[in-house]
Amino acid sequence: MLVAVHRAKLNGSGAGAPELSPHTTQTNEEWIMSDPAESQARRRFLKIAVVGAAVAPVAAALLPRIARADDMAHLDPNDPTAKALGYTEDASTAKGNPVYKAGSSCQGCNFFKGHSEMAYAPCDLFPNKVVSAKGWCASWTQKA
Ligand code: SF4
Repeated sequence: MLVAVHRAKLNGSGAGAPELSPHTTQTNEEWIMSDPAESQARRRFLKIAVVGAAVAPVAAALLPRIARADDMAHLDPNDPTAKALGYTEDASTAKGNPVYKAGSSCQGCNFFKGHSEMAYAPCDLFPNKVVSAKGWCASWTQKA
């Protein structure tokens, strides 16, 4: 289609009846239809566009699901590393820990990888697990 418009402009005409190009005995339409390579390329492009349009919504629906923290296991406070660091799902229970700072929780920790509305999110210290936003451990570090 672009070629047709382009050719029509080169020939000094717009939409309308086919006319002969000054450099060939073919009309614009004959010239376009007689170019099998371009026709095949156009068909290939259209196939890719149709497949892409069909696949894009499916991919868009799947990708966030793959990365969802909801699907990850919660860190067990009895996990040996979690236990060693005094991890708890409720920071208020950590007040007896000598390194606990008032008001600190996973939500405000630099290692917490969630946003403010996430109840659980990944933590850099515990791969493949999520920790409670209200939790705490002795490695708590003020969010930068
Ligand atoms: S390192 Fe931070 S985010 Fe991770 S469990 Fe400890 S306090 Fe929570």
